Amino acid sequence: MARYHIETYGCTSNRGETQQIEQALREGGHHPADAPDEADVAILNTCTVLEKTEQNMLRRAKELDAETPGDLVVTGCMALAQGELFREEEIDAEVLHWDDVPQHVLNGECPTVTPDTEPVLSGVVGILPIARGCMSDCSYCITKQATGRIESPSVEENVEKARSLVHAGAKEIRITGQDTGVYGWDTNQGTSLLPELLDRICDIDGEFRVRVGMANPKGVHGVREELARVFAENEKLYNFLHAPVQSGSDDVLADMRRQHHVDEYVEVVETFDESLDYWTLSTDFIAGFPTEEPADHEQSIALMRETRPEKINVTRFSKRPGTDAANMKGLGGQVKKDRSKELSELKMDLVGEAYEEMVGTEQSVLLIEDGTDESLVGYDEAYRQVVIADGEERGLELGDVVDVEITSHNTVYAFGVPS
Ligand code: SF4
Repeated sequence: MARYHIETYGCTSNRGETQQIEQALREGGHHPADAPDEADVAILNTCTVLEKTEQNMLRRAKELDAETPGDLVVTGCMALAQGELFREEEIDAEVLHWDDVPQHVLNGECPTVTPDTEPVLSGVVGILPIARGCMSDCSYCITKQATGRIESPSVEENVEKARSLVHAGAKEIRITGQDTGVYGWDTNQGTSLLPELLDRICDIDGEFRVRVGMANPKGVHGVREELARVFAENEKLYNFLHAPVQSGSDDVLADMRRQHHVDEYVEVVETFDESLDYWTLSTDFIAGFPTEEPADHEQSIALMRETRPEKINVTRFSKRPGTDAANMKGLGGQVKKDRSKELSELKMDLVGEAYEEMVGTEQSVLLIEDGTDESLVGYDEAYRQVVIADGEERGLELGDVVDVEITSHNTVYAFGVPS
């Protein structure tokens, strides 16, 4: 759980984005720092109305980069429209879409589900926590101390909760948990019940899509073929898997106590590649874990290149109090910065290529959020974000499913025009 510092510039819409980021951070157990130099992560929510504003944003980003001992995250309009300017100025920042900031701040840990684990409807999105806790004991994780071993309600109970969300108007059901891949390990002799749960939820009558939240590679590996089959057979499931690998080195994974080996992660990816033509692999890497040697870092780079995830979170390692990793002798700040930068640059290239390949294709997009001005924001069948710039003018509404042609992209989402 991190201390964060957040600064916001520009219009009321941007301030609304900051409110949502802060809400998600506080729900995840993070709390505000008194000043940037006490923050584990500094967040700059930018604006880009005027050239003078751009210069101010670059100057402030440089100051925060120097002031904060932790990561700098740049988000907001300037980050999305001109993210490359921060790189050109050699500012060591993660450039992220607003929605991706809370995930980044998790620092490699799994999300903390809401304490009551009750489903919540937010707009057309229904959040369904399917279990609390995990089966791991990662050496850098503080979340585990708050949540403990996994406790899984029955499949029937979760299906009923999903059904009530659909009846209440949910068009997208987000299945969450610290580790959805080990759902059922406690009640089903160490075998995941996730495939069965997903099959059953997709059988519910109604028009909706289902997104599966973070699932660590170990739990997924044991059921990878069944899970890939469930994804291939159910159109309601977004073809999206978030399996955080964290390192390309088995030695580092062992020190992290991550349970999985690199090969198991690769086998999961290969199985999904064989079963699905169009899907999104999302994963996370921690840069600069205390025992990470240069050769380990090279293995992370090689793994990123080999598996080519379409969505990647890179986090620079930071110590969390009370964890075993906090007592390890750490790497220097510059080493962590350099490795994080190298991973982030490769990430930008791979993600950019994935979006570039989408240009000219037709996608079916479910609209779930208001964007800036007249725009509406949705996700295609592989959970890639697509913005329809004049969505409101066209009379489209949240919850609509629209066929679009992808016309262009930036570093974090694609632009689509209804066809
Ligand atoms: S899987 Fe690891 S990082 Fe995630 S909650 Fe469990 S111990 Fe923490």
